[in-house]
Amino acid sequence: MTGKTDAPADAPRCSYCGEPFPSERLRALHRGLEHYDSLGDDERAAYEDAYHSETEDIRSFRLRALVVLVALYFGFLMTYAVVAV
Ligand SMILES: [Zn+2]
Repeated sequence: MTGKTDAPADAPRCSYCGEPFPSERLRALHRGLEHYDSLGDDERAAYEDAYHSETEDIRSFRLRALVVLVALYFGFLMTYAVVAV
């Protein structure tokens, strides 16, 4: 079967629709979102693990984005304070 993307032959594929994924985690997420009703217990557990680690990644990204914004804000504030005297 040829996918619409040029994924490598050994890419993890969805066992329900054959879609290729760059990682096991993304495949587990896809199965949970698209085929949740037909999943077995193991696959549901894999989906939940992948879902939780994804949530963790997003939280850590938000935190880093917030730190960058705060640093930029104070950087501009200090520059303004120095330049606009
Ligand atoms: Zn699928």
